[in-house]
Amino acid sequence: MMSQTSLRNLKTPIAVIGLGKSGNSALNLLKAAGFSNGDLLTYDDKDLTAQFCQAADLAAKNPQTLVVSPGVPLATPWIQKLIQSGAHLTSEITLTASLLTSEKVIGITGSVGKSTVTSILGAGAVADDENSFVGGNLGTPFCHYGLSILSGKTPAKWVVLELSSYQLENCAGLVLDFSAITFLSPNHLERYESLEQYYNTKLKITQMTKNICVVNQSSPDAVQFSKLASCPVKLVNAQHNLSDEQKQKIALIGQHNHDNFAVAQELGKVAGFKPASLEQMYHFKGLSHRLENVGVVNGVTYVNDSKATAMDSVLVATEGCLEKVSANHTLHLLLGGKDKNLPWEQLSILKDEKKIQPVFFGACGDLAKEKSKLNGPTFKSLNAALDYVLSVEKTGDVVLLSPGGTSLDEFKNFEDRGQFFTKKVIRFAK
Ligand code: ADP
Repeated sequence: MMSQTSLRNLKTPIAVIGLGKSGNSALNLLKAAGFSNGDLLTYDDKDLTAQFCQAADLAAKNPQTLVVSPGVPLATPWIQKLIQSGAHLTSEITLTASLLTSEKVIGITGSVGKSTVTSILGAGAVADDENSFVGGNLGTPFCHYGLSILSGKTPAKWVVLELSSYQLENCAGLVLDFSAITFLSPNHLERYESLEQYYNTKLKITQMTKNICVVNQSSPDAVQFSKLASCPVKLVNAQHNLSDEQKQKIALIGQHNHDNFAVAQELGKVAGFKPASLEQMYHFKGLSHRLENVGVVNGVTYVNDSKATAMDSVLVATEGCLEKVSANHTLHLLLGGKDKNLPWEQLSILKDEKKIQPVFFGACGDLAKEKSKLNGPTFKSLNAALDYVLSVEKTGDVVLLSPGGTSLDEFKNFEDRGQFFTKKVIRFAK
């Protein structure tokens, strides 16, 4: 594997291809490793801060090393041509992997559930060692960890890395002690020739794994494909691996998240997390704005699912929250925002569920009500809808913002809307 010395020995000029979050942090790592601006070339066809926006201009500089960002397909003809002419292909993951020493590395991939499993496990890893690195495709690029090592920081005990299929295509040298495959489903088929090719890319994670790969047993495709794994596999899910008592303790909402929890808990166990660190994972409340359990005030549970702008997501969130509402209590479901020609009629299956009280708001409140055939009051703004809910809610109720519509009628983005909801309910709840 490449060491610190060989990171410094990369052949120049080095081209950083794709100047997103990953490319920019690779650039910083290369500079910290001692490369000068004269050694480095940057290319991005959309970002005008890059030195080159035309591939031919970059190729004319004869780059000897290509640091390709995950967003740029490796099959791009001019990249392939440079590789065939002898340029060395690498990535921010490979560069950082070359700096690892004593760390135990756990990699997580899948079509959905990656960020959730990474974050649940990350909560345990950080409890076990506060220096742990949690990131990769989620949050902080891996190169940030590389930078901290170059600056002399103590190596972390745990590195928990979310790996997308694009990253798995270009991460030579990364060795995982443990890994996981979450839920597999058709995705990114614009970049892969077939579903099989996409799944085979995911399966690469098992070739990099020294010990064991934990697979979500609730995903039929993951179970099927993991039969071709190159390392031992352990199948787990909530149904088979969690007791009712454990399920009760999980702060996360929704059956699919219980499966994600089961995967993370098993990873923590096989990796040897201390019992107190495994316990810490129960408290993880969800990624911000995605079925996020923001808190319980006076016995009312508030759930922020502001990111939900598809009917499927609204239905999954509603089902997950209904599990938390006992008989004679109410699920206040906030629906609305800005329409994007959404199939609101799909929500009509909620009509006979007595525990649900829909509350409509925003630019498409009336439209959502009419198309979904659900009954409930309509308000001009989320603020007014919340004032109403806060005046009628009772201990034992759940208030769910899973709006379906986008945030753009009232807010900058879904994060802004979710933050507004969280601040308001926590501050004004009785
Ligand atoms: P990723 O990082 O892989 O995109 P996330 O953990 O951010 O996945 O979850 C994104 C969405 O995927 C969730 O909001 C949920 O709708 C769905 N999802 C997550 N985990 C699962 C799972 N285990 N099974 C089915 N759907 C899931």
